[in-house]
Amino acid sequence: MKVLVINCGSSSLKYQLINMEDEKVLAIGLVERIGIEGSVLTQKVNGEKYVIEQPMQDHKVAMSLVINALLDKEHGVISDMSEISAVGHRVLHAGQKYCSSVLINDDVMEAIKDCIKLGPLHNPANITGINSCKEFMPNTPMVAVFDTAFHQTMPEEAYIYALPYEMYTKYGVRKYGFHGTSHKFVSTEAIKMLNGAKNLKIVTCHLGNGASICAIKDGKVIDTTMGLTPLAGLVMGTRCGDIDPSIVPFLMKEANMSADDVDNLMNKKSGVLGISGISSDFRDIENAAKEGNKRAQLALKIYDYKVKTAIGAYVAALDGVDAIVFTAGLGENSATNRADICEGLSYLGIKLDPEKNALRGKAMEISTPDSKVKVLVIPTNEELMIARDTKEIVDSAK
Ligand code: AMP
Repeated sequence: MKVLVINCGSSSLKYQLINMEDEKVLAIGLVERIGIEGSVLTQKVNGEKYVIEQPMQDHKVAMSLVINALLDKEHGVISDMSEISAVGHRVLHAGQKYCSSVLINDDVMEAIKDCIKLGPLHNPANITGINSCKEFMPNTPMVAVFDTAFHQTMPEEAYIYALPYEMYTKYGVRKYGFHGTSHKFVSTEAIKMLNGAKNLKIVTCHLGNGASICAIKDGKVIDTTMGLTPLAGLVMGTRCGDIDPSIVPFLMKEANMSADDVDNLMNKKSGVLGISGISSDFRDIENAAKEGNKRAQLALKIYDYKVKTAIGAYVAALDGVDAIVFTAGLGENSATNRADICEGLSYLGIKLDPEKNALRGKAMEISTPDSKVKVLVIPTNEELMIARDTKEIVDSAK
């Protein structure tokens, strides 16, 4: 079975064609600048690049070029569209409606539309992606894999905010959580690495440009750091994470800012970029910190402190911890960051093996054999998780 994975943004479309027999990626591609000047499709097959540069006024045109690229006699990987058995779509927000991936039908499309208010940037793009795909493959089963779904097992004490209860019932204001596909993938892989043990208590740390931590008991989420939106929780590349909510009206009054100005400030100008004044990329900040830049050093200190305290909170929520998993750009690649975070967790009996911690690029245990808690690095693979979910759902619907 070959599954096409689609991840649609407002002006981009990422895709992968995966052969589910051996989970091999047959083709990987990215369409950028859809609807703006300079549209370009780049597809890679076995490392070889195929580039199409031509105007793409909308996602439908982009999708038709994706299909052409997959079918291309010289650079493609399939000879007929019927070779694609199913399509898995990444969708940001399903609100409270779905706690797992689902076969797309009219009800599911309605639910995704209903959640546009909760995911105004992503859900409309996801809908466009599904619709343009349907035009070219009307009879191919399509599955929606939601970023929020994995977190739907959270108990209400974790997801209800201490606001008047009607804010939840009337407006759906609650914690939803994000990066669910990544947390699900790495926790599933962690359970496999720990020989499928039952009732494992795992804290997964997705530390990329966006960052979130998740507490998982026996494969089910019991809490996560992101909230109604992906702004909550940890300090991130450009997002502030949790701050005193009064800062919002304070800035509106004192700095004469509008609600949109503050929203922009918190989402795009804060985080380690805001503290350091240098960059949102941790590589730049780590380099500046090494050269003695005080604000870069402070940004890293604050970042690690928030991760550490969030892990501590989740150890309390789980009543213990068997494994801590690091993933995503920073979590997978920065040995110094992992070491700094784990150093502050020595009270849990965590011991890192510095040599293993210095390795990169594969799933591995980086704690010492006598460490009371296993520390794992697991490269995330959201596309593979989407393809696996899609295959499972399509197979079970047969
Ligand atoms: P992601 O959002 O998962 O793609 O992660 C992107 C972020 O990972 C970048 O902004 C970098 O800050 C960070 N990153 C990637 N590689 C490294 C590295 N070798 N060392 C430190 N940080 C890294």
